[in-house]
Amino acid sequence: MDTPTFIAPSSRGVVPHLSMDNLRDHTDISGAYVALEDFVEKGIPHSPVFQQPGPLRSFTSQPSSSFMVLGARRCPPVPAPAINTDHSISILTSMGFRELEVNDFISSTAQLQPDVVIGMVDIPAARAGKNRVPKMVDRTELWLEALLRETSSNGTPTFAPILPVELELQTLYLQSIEDNAEQLAGLAFYDSMLVPDMPAALQGLPRLALDDAGDPRKLLQGVARGVDVFTAVFALEATDAGIELEFEFPGTPLEQGVRPLGRDMWAEREEMKTDTRPMVEGCSCYACTRHHRAYLCHLLSAKEMTAWVLLQIHNSHIMERFFAAVRESIARGTFEEDCRTFDRVYEEKLPEKSGEGPR
Ligand SMILES: [Zn+2]
Repeated sequence: MDTPTFIAPSSRGVVPHLSMDNLRDHTDISGAYVALEDFVEKGIPHSPVFQQPGPLRSFTSQPSSSFMVLGARRCPPVPAPAINTDHSISILTSMGFRELEVNDFISSTAQLQPDVVIGMVDIPAARAGKNRVPKMVDRTELWLEALLRETSSNGTPTFAPILPVELELQTLYLQSIEDNAEQLAGLAFYDSMLVPDMPAALQGLPRLALDDAGDPRKLLQGVARGVDVFTAVFALEATDAGIELEFEFPGTPLEQGVRPLGRDMWAEREEMKTDTRPMVEGCSCYACTRHHRAYLCHLLSAKEMTAWVLLQIHNSHIMERFFAAVRESIARGTFEEDCRTFDRVYEEKLPEKSGEGPR
């Protein structure tokens, strides 16, 4: 995987709106984040994914080229009402809230065989108070050690989770990560602001950000901080809201004014109903080379699922092109300068979401 790049948060192992053939044929998305809570509605081992012989990849029909990262909860997770215990966390499955035993999560990695598993974290639904933080740190450390005992024998590459609390409060945990560094394949950050302050001994490990950057500027700030892989939640949320993204890196300045980062197709569907231009002129994605704005607006108005399929293909293409340009800029040594250009060329924020989703 060339980095920096992004992986897509999935729903039951599927990148939203994209069937596996669309994912394979019309996107270059490098991988997907998959949550175990999407698959354990009947618990372990009674849920269907454990009743079939193959790994998770064959259960979800993910293309073999797509990188699969497994975590316990979705990205971002829906807050669960029950509290976590020393040996379980509260999760949301398709059939409601239930508990996920830490040992079940750990033992499931042998059968599911993801490309990377992220250690389980104890993050309470409400903001953790002073007394709660030490417990979060202790549990997360114990759970990671238990996971490493399993994955070092079953061979699953393991990322250590870094909790979204000040680094000083997780010093002992970081020390234990350092002690286990040889067994680790990377680090997964629930708060990517912590990336630059990691101990020197851990700086060489790949860094995955699980918090949502929110917009392309924050992605660039994340790249500058040293994040290697993002879970670009905002791009998928833009698709749901009927927003097509249209930024590139570093972007070409206008003679006057600034360029938008995206366009709310949902809000503009009346004005665009006879517009036969592609969503973004010059875009080489499947949606822009074969269909025009008027067709997309018709699909949105009719709430045809194809609208969101085409938007997702296009938005993924914009993200892929963005990260490819960022990598080239870093290789050229012009990244900081290009970030300043991007700042000048584009509006501050993505359009507000006004659209109704496909359902
Ligand atoms: Zn396009």
